[in-house]
Amino acid sequence: MSCKCNSIVKQAENLKNAKGRIDIIELANSLGLKVYTTAEISVPSFIAYDKENKCYEIFVNSKEKVTRQRFSVAHEIAHFIEHKDKIMEFGIVGRQNDYSLSAKEEAQADTLAANILMPENCLDEYLKNENIGLDTKIDLNIVQKIAKTFEVSLISVIMRLRGLGYYVKYIELY
Ligand SMILES: [Zn+2]
Repeated sequence: MSCKCNSIVKQAENLKNAKGRIDIIELANSLGLKVYTTAEISVPSFIAYDKENKCYEIFVNSKEKVTRQRFSVAHEIAHFIEHKDKIMEFGIVGRQNDYSLSAKEEAQADTLAANILMPENCLDEYLKNENIGLDTKIDLNIVQKIAKTFEVSLISVIMRLRGLGYYVKYIELY
């Protein structure tokens, strides 16, 4: 990970609340980003640059599930960290509105979003407390507990754990 990415994950870690989840709105605000939740948009989220006020704003679709909303905010924060120049150039950058950013850049934002919501240190600490190691066969029950603690979706937990080298048993999610 780049320095910028490491530093945002560190900031996220510091915003972990007593229940174990990262305060993603607080993280956005600490970067000077305003977050608006609205039912008036048709995409999950987007980030916009307000030329007049020279500030960045994240809009999140309130009709989405809370875990999705949290991931969307983290995803837009990731764009702000990694693709700030393009947001300024394009004015608006959004999920499912990929004309402006490449698939690779979207994937980068998804990866960083997962790191922000589930920082490696926080996840390691949690797993250690639960006696889960690299040789543990992680099942749906464990995935659900982690998802609840970090307030993220099951699929993002599975992908994050696998990315860190943990063994997650095949789980039928749909
Ligand atoms: Zn995106």
